[in-house]
Amino acid sequence: MIERFPHPCNSCGYCCLIQVCPIGLSIFGGEKYRPCPALEWQGTQSRCGVVEKAKGTPHEEMVKQAFGIDTGCCIKARVRDVHGNMHDFASLPDEVKISLTQRYKAGGITTIQRVKK
Ligand code: SF4
Ligand code: SF4
Repeated sequence: MIERFPHPCNSCGYCCLIQVCPIGLSIFGGEKYRPCPALEWQGTQSRCGVVEKAKGTPHEEMVKQAFGIDTGCCIKARVRDVHGNMHDFASLPDEVKISLTQRYKAGGITTIQRVKK
């Protein structure tokens, strides 16, 4: 059964920007903690190039299931606000996730912490 997460995914792209997922690692190899080579952008919306390539093929549903597409925001990361309070990244409002991701992408912030699983 596919695990479902309590907060929706808004395709902010943060997860794939900070580390390559296990499937990506098996395809591309290399370092885990780096932007994934399959990560694609349309403005502030991210897409997985591997999932995109599978669209319209007989493998589309299998690939989507393998990547947990439509199961919610799976990231384990915390963000410290200006008052020093910690927040679960997955629970943040969509616009905040997108804003933080774009700032991180531009090199403007480095303070989001991964939470070890
Ligand atoms: S960090 Fe969460 S909301 Fe953003 S793309 Fe990854 S799973 Fe989706
Ligand atoms: S872009 Fe695709 S392959 Fe790369 S980390 Fe994200 S989900 Fe995995």
